[in-house]
Amino acid sequence: MYEFAVTPAVTSIRRRGVEISEVHPDSLGAEMDLEPGDRIIKVNGRTVRDYLDFRFHTAGETELLLEVRKKTGEDWELELERGENEDFGFSFEQIVPRQCANECIFCFCNGNPADARPSLFVKDEDIRLSFLYGNYTTLTSISEDEIKRIVEQGLSPQYVSIHATNLDVRAYLLGVDKERADISAKLKRLLDAGIQIHAQVVLCPGINDGDVLLKTIHDLAAEHPRITSVAIVPLGLTRYNTDPRLTPVTPEFCREVIGQLTAVQNQLRVRLGTNFAFLGDEIYLRAGQAVPK
Ligand code: SF4
Repeated sequence: MYEFAVTPAVTSIRRRGVEISEVHPDSLGAEMDLEPGDRIIKVNGRTVRDYLDFRFHTAGETELLLEVRKKTGEDWELELERGENEDFGFSFEQIVPRQCANECIFCFCNGNPADARPSLFVKDEDIRLSFLYGNYTTLTSISEDEIKRIVEQGLSPQYVSIHATNLDVRAYLLGVDKERADISAKLKRLLDAGIQIHAQVVLCPGINDGDVLLKTIHDLAAEHPRITSVAIVPLGLTRYNTDPRLTPVTPEFCREVIGQLTAVQNQLRVRLGTNFAFLGDEIYLRAGQAVPK
Protein backbone atom coordinates (compact mmCIF):
# COMPACT_ATOMS: atom_id res chain seq x y z
CA MET A 1 0.00 0.00 0.00
CA TYR A 2 1.48 3.36 -0.94
CA GLU A 3 0.86 7.02 -1.72
CA PHE A 4 3.07 9.36 -3.64
CA ALA A 5 3.69 13.07 -4.15
CA VAL A 6 5.64 14.67 -7.01
CA THR A 7 7.84 17.73 -6.53
CA PRO A 8 9.87 19.58 -9.19
CA ALA A 9 13.37 18.21 -9.70
CA VAL A 10 16.33 20.18 -8.43
CA THR A 11 19.18 20.20 -10.93
CA SER A 12 22.16 18.42 -9.42
CA ILE A 13 25.41 17.26 -10.96
CA ARG A 14 26.32 14.87 -8.15
CA ARG A 15 24.46 11.60 -8.43
CA ARG A 16 22.95 11.00 -5.03
CA GLY A 17 21.38 7.85 -3.71
CA VAL A 18 21.54 4.37 -5.17
CA GLU A 19 20.34 3.40 -8.63
CA ILE A 20 17.86 0.61 -9.13
CA SER A 21 19.16 -1.69 -11.87
CA GLU A 22 16.24 -4.12 -11.98
CA VAL A 23 12.70 -4.34 -10.63
CA HIS A 24 11.27 -7.81 -10.45
CA PRO A 25 7.74 -8.22 -11.85
CA ASP A 26 4.91 -8.67 -9.33
CA SER A 27 7.00 -7.12 -6.58
CA LEU A 28 6.42 -4.21 -4.23
CA GLY A 29 8.86 -2.17 -6.33
CA ALA A 30 6.84 -2.82 -9.52
CA GLU A 31 3.61 -1.94 -7.70
CA MET A 32 5.19 1.42 -6.78
CA ASP A 33 5.94 2.07 -10.48
CA LEU A 34 9.67 2.17 -9.82
CA GLU A 35 11.90 1.29 -12.75
CA PRO A 36 15.54 0.61 -13.58
CA GLY A 37 17.40 3.94 -13.63
CA ASP A 38 15.41 5.44 -10.73
CA ARG A 39 17.49 6.41 -7.71
CA ILE A 40 16.50 6.02 -4.07
CA ILE A 41 17.79 9.10 -2.27
CA LYS A 42 16.46 8.73 1.27
CA VAL A 43 14.61 6.23 3.43
CA ASN A 44 12.62 7.70 6.33
CA GLY A 45 14.68 10.89 6.03
CA ARG A 46 18.01 9.05 6.15
CA THR A 47 20.45 9.44 3.29
CA VAL A 48 21.11 6.39 1.13
CA ARG A 49 24.61 6.16 -0.35
CA ASP A 50 24.51 2.62 -1.69
CA TYR A 51 22.51 -0.58 -1.41
CA LEU A 52 24.01 -1.43 1.97
CA ASP A 53 22.46 1.78 3.34
CA PHE A 54 19.15 0.87 1.69
CA ARG A 55 19.20 -2.57 3.30
CA PHE A 56 20.20 -1.13 6.66
CA HIS A 57 17.60 1.68 6.70
CA THR A 58 14.75 -0.57 5.55
CA ALA A 59 15.55 -3.60 7.71
CA GLY A 60 12.67 -4.38 10.05
CA GLU A 61 10.74 -1.25 8.97
CA THR A 62 7.13 -1.76 7.89
CA GLU A 63 6.21 1.94 7.44
CA LEU A 64 8.49 3.70 5.02
CA LEU A 65 8.89 7.02 3.28
CA LEU A 66 11.08 6.68 0.20
CA GLU A 67 12.48 9.73 -1.57
CA VAL A 68 13.13 8.79 -5.16
CA ARG A 69 14.70 10.64 -8.10
CA LYS A 70 12.99 9.17 -11.17
CA LYS A 71 15.12 8.67 -14.24
CA THR A 72 12.94 11.31 -15.89
CA GLY A 73 14.27 13.84 -13.34
CA GLU A 74 11.08 14.00 -11.23
CA ASP A 75 11.33 13.68 -7.48
CA TRP A 76 8.82 11.33 -5.87
CA GLU A 77 7.96 10.74 -2.26
CA LEU A 78 6.48 7.31 -1.69
CA GLU A 79 4.77 6.37 1.53
CA LEU A 80 4.26 2.69 1.93
CA GLU A 81 3.43 -0.04 4.32
CA ARG A 82 4.92 -3.44 3.75
CA GLY A 83 4.64 -6.79 5.40
CA GLU A 84 7.40 -7.84 7.73
CA ASN A 85 10.29 -9.16 5.61
CA GLU A 86 8.37 -8.34 2.40
CA ASP A 87 10.94 -7.93 -0.35
CA PHE A 88 10.99 -4.84 -2.57
CA GLY A 89 12.07 -6.84 -5.62
CA PHE A 90 14.94 -4.46 -6.43
CA SER A 91 18.41 -5.15 -7.71
CA PHE A 92 20.86 -2.28 -7.38
CA GLU A 93 23.88 -0.90 -9.19
CA GLN A 94 27.23 -2.30 -8.06
CA ILE A 95 29.24 -0.48 -5.43
CA VAL A 96 32.05 1.56 -7.00
CA PRO A 97 35.08 0.58 -4.92
CA ARG A 98 37.00 3.16 -2.95
CA GLN A 99 40.68 3.08 -3.97
CA CYS A 100 43.65 2.53 -1.69
CA ALA A 101 46.36 5.11 -1.00
CA ASN A 102 49.17 2.60 -0.48
CA GLU A 103 52.16 1.69 -2.61
CA CYS A 104 52.63 -1.92 -1.50
CA ILE A 105 55.86 -3.31 -2.85
CA PHE A 106 54.08 -6.58 -3.69
CA CYS A 107 50.93 -5.00 -5.17
CA PHE A 108 49.27 -7.33 -7.66
CA CYS A 109 48.84 -4.38 -10.05
CA ASN A 110 52.62 -4.31 -10.55
CA GLY A 111 52.44 -7.87 -11.78
CA ASN A 112 49.97 -7.12 -14.56
CA PRO A 113 50.99 -6.71 -18.18
CA ALA A 114 50.44 -3.10 -19.25
CA ASP A 115 47.59 -4.09 -21.57
CA ALA A 116 45.66 -6.16 -19.02
CA ARG A 117 41.98 -5.31 -18.74
CA PRO A 118 41.35 -2.16 -16.66
CA SER A 119 39.49 -3.97 -13.87
CA LEU A 120 42.75 -5.75 -12.95
CA PHE A 121 44.24 -2.39 -12.01
CA VAL A 122 41.52 -1.44 -9.54
CA LYS A 123 43.28 -0.98 -6.19
CA ASP A 124 40.24 -1.42 -4.03
CA GLU A 125 40.27 -0.62 -0.32
CA ASP A 126 36.65 -0.67 0.64
CA ILE A 127 35.17 -1.72 3.97
CA ARG A 128 31.82 -2.39 2.26
CA LEU A 129 33.39 -4.93 -0.12
CA SER A 130 35.28 -6.40 2.80
CA PHE A 131 32.00 -7.07 4.58
CA LEU A 132 30.16 -8.24 1.46
CA TYR A 133 32.81 -10.30 -0.32
CA GLY A 134 35.78 -10.75 2.01
CA ASN A 135 38.04 -8.30 0.17
CA TYR A 136 40.97 -7.23 2.32
CA THR A 137 41.60 -3.64 3.37
CA THR A 138 44.62 -2.23 5.17
CA LEU A 139 42.70 0.37 7.24
CA THR A 140 45.54 2.85 6.57
CA SER A 141 43.26 5.46 5.05
CA ILE A 142 39.93 4.51 6.58
CA SER A 143 37.92 7.63 7.43
CA GLU A 144 36.12 8.42 10.66
CA ASP A 145 32.81 8.08 8.80
CA GLU A 146 33.76 4.62 7.59
CA ILE A 147 34.72 3.47 11.09
CA LYS A 148 31.42 4.78 12.43
CA ARG A 149 29.58 3.08 9.59
CA ILE A 150 31.16 -0.32 10.29
CA VAL A 151 30.14 -0.03 13.93
CA GLU A 152 26.67 1.44 13.39
CA GLN A 153 25.68 -0.97 10.65
CA GLY A 154 27.50 -3.95 12.16
CA LEU A 155 29.54 -4.59 8.99
CA SER A 156 31.19 -7.61 10.57
CA PRO A 157 33.40 -9.45 9.88
CA GLN A 158 36.03 -7.23 8.32
CA TYR A 159 39.05 -8.66 6.51
CA VAL A 160 42.25 -6.76 7.26
CA SER A 161 45.70 -7.06 5.69
CA ILE A 162 48.08 -6.78 8.61
CA HIS A 163 51.24 -8.17 6.95
CA ALA A 164 53.32 -7.48 10.09
CA THR A 165 52.69 -6.11 13.57
CA ASN A 166 56.24 -4.72 13.50
CA LEU A 167 55.47 -1.15 12.46
CA ASP A 168 58.70 -0.56 10.54
CA VAL A 169 58.08 -3.68 8.49
CA ARG A 170 54.41 -2.90 7.89
CA ALA A 171 55.21 0.64 6.73
CA TYR A 172 57.93 -0.67 4.41
CA LEU A 173 55.66 -3.27 2.86
CA LEU A 174 52.77 -0.85 2.35
CA GLY A 175 54.99 1.97 1.09
CA VAL A 176 53.55 4.46 3.59
CA ASP A 177 54.94 6.28 6.62
CA LYS A 178 54.80 4.74 10.08
CA GLU A 179 52.05 7.04 11.27
CA ARG A 180 49.77 5.86 8.49
CA ALA A 181 50.84 2.24 8.88
CA ASP A 182 49.91 2.25 12.56
CA ILE A 183 46.31 1.04 12.72
CA SER A 184 46.39 -0.13 16.35
CA ALA A 185 43.90 2.49 17.60
CA LYS A 186 41.50 1.89 14.69
CA LEU A 187 41.69 -1.85 15.13
CA LYS A 188 41.01 -1.52 18.85
CA ARG A 189 37.93 0.61 18.20
CA LEU A 190 36.53 -2.00 15.84
CA LEU A 191 37.32 -4.90 18.15
CA ASP A 192 35.88 -3.09 21.18
CA ALA A 193 32.70 -2.49 19.20
CA GLY A 194 32.33 -6.23 18.62
CA ILE A 195 33.49 -6.25 15.00
CA GLN A 196 35.12 -9.56 14.13
CA ILE A 197 38.40 -9.39 12.23
CA HIS A 198 40.02 -11.91 9.89
CA ALA A 199 43.66 -10.94 9.39
CA GLN A 200 45.93 -11.57 6.45
CA VAL A 201 49.68 -11.68 5.89
CA VAL A 202 51.22 -11.59 2.42
CA LEU A 203 54.43 -13.41 3.17
CA CYS A 204 57.49 -11.86 1.52
CA PRO A 205 60.73 -13.86 2.02
CA GLY A 206 63.38 -11.92 3.91
CA ILE A 207 60.94 -9.16 4.95
CA ASN A 208 58.05 -10.35 7.13
CA ASP A 209 58.91 -14.03 7.59
CA GLY A 210 60.87 -15.69 10.45
CA ASP A 211 60.72 -13.84 13.77
CA VAL A 212 58.62 -11.02 12.29
CA LEU A 213 55.98 -13.57 11.28
CA LEU A 214 56.07 -15.29 14.67
CA LYS A 215 55.57 -11.95 16.44
CA THR A 216 52.70 -11.09 14.09
CA ILE A 217 50.95 -14.37 14.80
CA HIS A 218 51.43 -14.12 18.56
CA ASP A 219 50.30 -10.46 18.68
CA LEU A 220 47.17 -11.28 16.69
CA ALA A 221 46.46 -14.48 18.62
CA ALA A 222 46.47 -12.40 21.82
CA GLU A 223 43.22 -10.86 20.52
CA HIS A 224 41.55 -14.20 19.76
CA PRO A 225 38.57 -14.75 19.49
CA ARG A 226 37.95 -11.11 18.50
CA ILE A 227 40.56 -11.65 15.81
CA THR A 228 39.33 -14.94 14.45
CA SER A 229 42.12 -16.07 12.17
CA VAL A 230 45.16 -15.05 10.20
CA ALA A 231 45.56 -16.21 6.62
CA ILE A 232 49.17 -16.37 5.44
CA VAL A 233 49.53 -16.28 1.67
CA PRO A 234 52.73 -16.19 -0.34
CA LEU A 235 54.01 -13.25 -2.35
CA GLY A 236 52.95 -13.75 -5.96
CA LEU A 237 55.39 -12.61 -8.63
CA THR A 238 54.93 -12.53 -12.37
CA ARG A 239 57.56 -11.74 -14.99
CA TYR A 240 56.25 -8.16 -15.03
CA ASN A 241 57.13 -7.42 -11.40
CA THR A 242 60.91 -7.21 -11.23
CA ASP A 243 61.19 -5.10 -8.06
CA PRO A 244 64.66 -5.96 -6.63
CA ARG A 245 63.33 -5.67 -3.06
CA LEU A 246 61.28 -8.83 -3.59
CA THR A 247 62.59 -12.38 -3.30
CA PRO A 248 60.64 -15.17 -5.03
CA VAL A 249 58.94 -17.82 -2.94
CA THR A 250 60.84 -21.10 -3.46
CA PRO A 251 59.93 -24.69 -2.50
CA GLU A 252 62.68 -24.61 0.19
CA PHE A 253 61.25 -21.43 1.67
CA CYS A 254 57.77 -22.99 1.76
CA ARG A 255 59.06 -26.11 3.50
CA GLU A 256 60.76 -23.96 6.14
CA VAL A 257 57.61 -21.94 6.73
CA ILE A 258 55.48 -25.08 7.04
CA GLY A 259 57.93 -26.52 9.60
CA GLN A 260 57.93 -23.31 11.61
CA LEU A 261 54.16 -22.86 11.43
CA THR A 262 53.28 -26.46 12.27
CA ALA A 263 54.89 -26.06 15.69
CA VAL A 264 53.09 -22.75 16.26
CA GLN A 265 49.74 -24.19 15.14
CA ASN A 266 50.12 -27.09 17.55
CA GLN A 267 50.67 -24.68 20.45
CA LEU A 268 47.80 -22.45 19.41
CA ARG A 269 45.45 -25.39 19.02
CA VAL A 270 46.08 -26.42 22.62
CA ARG A 271 45.67 -22.83 23.86
CA LEU A 272 42.86 -21.51 21.64
CA GLY A 273 41.19 -24.63 20.28
CA THR A 274 42.05 -23.58 16.71
CA ASN A 275 45.14 -23.47 14.50
CA PHE A 276 44.38 -19.73 14.19
CA ALA A 277 47.20 -19.18 11.66
CA PHE A 278 46.45 -20.83 8.33
CA LEU A 279 48.87 -21.16 5.44
CA GLY A 280 47.55 -20.75 1.92
CA ASP A 281 47.28 -23.90 -0.19
CA GLU A 282 49.92 -22.49 -2.56
CA ILE A 283 52.54 -22.80 0.17
CA TYR A 284 51.91 -26.56 0.56
CA LEU A 285 51.72 -27.09 -3.20
CA ARG A 286 54.96 -25.17 -3.82
CA ALA A 287 56.59 -27.22 -1.05
CA GLY A 288 55.51 -30.40 -2.82
CA GLN A 289 53.31 -31.41 0.11
CA ALA A 290 49.66 -32.37 0.41
CA VAL A 291 47.28 -29.61 1.42
CA PRO A 292 46.00 -30.40 4.95
CA LYS A 293 42.33 -31.26 5.35
S1 SF4 B 1 46.54 -2.26 -0.52
FE1 SF4 B 1 46.19 -3.79 -2.11
S2 SF4 B 1 45.64 -2.59 -3.90
FE2 SF4 B 1 46.56 -1.16 -2.46
S3 SF4 B 1 48.71 -1.07 -3.05
FE3 SF4 B 1 48.51 -2.64 -1.48
S4 SF4 B 1 48.23 -4.58 -2.58
FE4 SF4 B 1 47.86 -2.89 -4.03
